[in-house]
Amino acid sequence: MNDMSLTNLQEGKTTVSAAAIEALAGQQRGSVLDASDASYDEARAIWNAMIDRRPGLIVQCAGAADVVNAVRFARDNNLLVSVRGGGHNIAGNAVCDGGLMIDLSSMKALRVDAAAKQAWVEPGATLADVDRETQSFGLALPTGINSTTGIAGLTLGGGFGWITRKFGLTIDNLLSADVVTANGELVRASPTENPDLFWALRGGGGNFGVVTSFEFKLHELGPQVISGLVVHPFDDAQTVLEQYRQALETAPDELTCWAVMRQAPPLPFLPEQWHGKEVLVLAMCYCGDLEAGEKATAKLRAIGKPIADVVGPNPFTGWQQAFDPLLTPGARNYWKSLDFIEFSDATIGILTDAVRELPGPECEIFVGHVGGAAGRVAVDATAFPQRNSHFVMNVHARWREPQMDRACIGWARNLFEAAKPYAAGTAYINFMPEDEVDRVEAAYGSNYQRLAEVKRRYDPQNLFRMNQNVRPAEGLGVAA
Ligand SMILES: Cc1cc2nc3c(=O)[nH]c(=O)nc-3n(C[C@H](O)[C@H](O)[C@H](O)COP(=O)(O)OP(=O)(O)OC[C@H]3O[C@@H](n4cnc5c(N)ncnc54)[C@H](O)[C@@H]3O)c2cc1C
Repeated sequence: MNDMSLTNLQEGKTTVSAAAIEALAGQQRGSVLDASDASYDEARAIWNAMIDRRPGLIVQCAGAADVVNAVRFARDNNLLVSVRGGGHNIAGNAVCDGGLMIDLSSMKALRVDAAAKQAWVEPGATLADVDRETQSFGLALPTGINSTTGIAGLTLGGGFGWITRKFGLTIDNLLSADVVTANGELVRASPTENPDLFWALRGGGGNFGVVTSFEFKLHELGPQVISGLVVHPFDDAQTVLEQYRQALETAPDELTCWAVMRQAPPLPFLPEQWHGKEVLVLAMCYCGDLEAGEKATAKLRAIGKPIADVVGPNPFTGWQQAFDPLLTPGARNYWKSLDFIEFSDATIGILTDAVRELPGPECEIFVGHVGGAAGRVAVDATAFPQRNSHFVMNVHARWREPQMDRACIGWARNLFEAAKPYAAGTAYINFMPEDEVDRVEAAYGSNYQRLAEVKRRYDPQNLFRMNQNVRPAEGLGVAA
């Protein structure tokens, strides 16, 4: 090992001696990698292939003590730091150029207390890991719809998916977290210990420290749920979406239905003549009694004249993976997202126009259905601000060839600009791409100022800045 020139917090360079790096490596249970290591390229690769950054050092942590050492090393050497959980975030903040990447992906331990309906989860676990362990005991945690997503980033941004309307956001089920703060201390955040930090962690992203363990409340569920897809020809989209909106006005909390618009992939249950054609998919889940689920989904399934209807009882763990084949890592991705309180006629018109101009076979629009229990939490109860939004639109531009970057990114941006006047104003930070730095304050709305104050208290130098960054409030110890 040689002395290394690493990126510092001022985006200049700091030389760190070989002896200091060797001392760090000697303290760790996990590994410390640099570009000369065979596994370096694999360790720096994340879900979005648009992100190609080269950290100076990758500290692969095996436990909380490794994280403490890594944070202290970064702080003492004034290094740029990034934190990787599951590596799914579209903005790619998990990986930094030239600085120190704290890689938590091998910290996957998970313990369920079935009697107490609680789980303790390390930050490298994926949603699939969480589902598998919790469902083994007939329990579930509300998370997201793609099982390879990391629990850590998802939770810190909020977290919503198929059972959120019944059981709340992922953060609404967070009981406590162990956090390594910017000064290298391991603290606990809960309603009674560091309550301001606990408030900020629930939606404030990676701004406040490195979480080494999450404690969650679980709910009885399954093992089967009524779930599946109803696929419509896109020519019927306008009327189907109007009826979809109407049906959801009286939907029970157990029922969630997302709308997905894209070219049909070659799914085995779709007649071949529809493969590659634009379709509207209603993807639904009822997370309660199976018979009640058949009745509750009937109204949605009766809409229009679908090409295919594959709704029925499925294992919850299987349904949680239903979209995985469409969302595999390694493609180029760019997202734009808006929150909607109402799904207006104008918005429906804008979305249907955009689908007629899809720039590629993997580009799609997701309309996530939220509300329910997630909407009955006060806006200021947690850092997550968009409690009133009933729908979250996510424009997924997704493609393979770099020469398609301009067309795909342009399509997503145009749709975003057209729909923005009808949106709520807040935004889900977990869906924000790297160029939306200036949107963070608006995304948090009335919660931003309090977040900035908590940031000043726990991270006055803004050590944790590779995220949807909340700047420390003005005052003592403001960031450089
Ligand atoms: C295909 C796909 C589908 C998705 N579907 C949903 C969905 O249905 N619902 C939903 O809510 N979200 C969804 N998301 C968004 C997802 O919640 C975010 O991308 C989230 O940030 C991923 O977390 P991660 O740990 O995998 O990501 P990473 O990229 O590893 O982390 C993201 C950021 O979180 C912070 N961070 C990560 N771990 C820690 C930690 N232990 N301590 C402190 N900070 C940390 C860091 O700032 C890091 O940059 C989806 C994303 C993808 C790519």
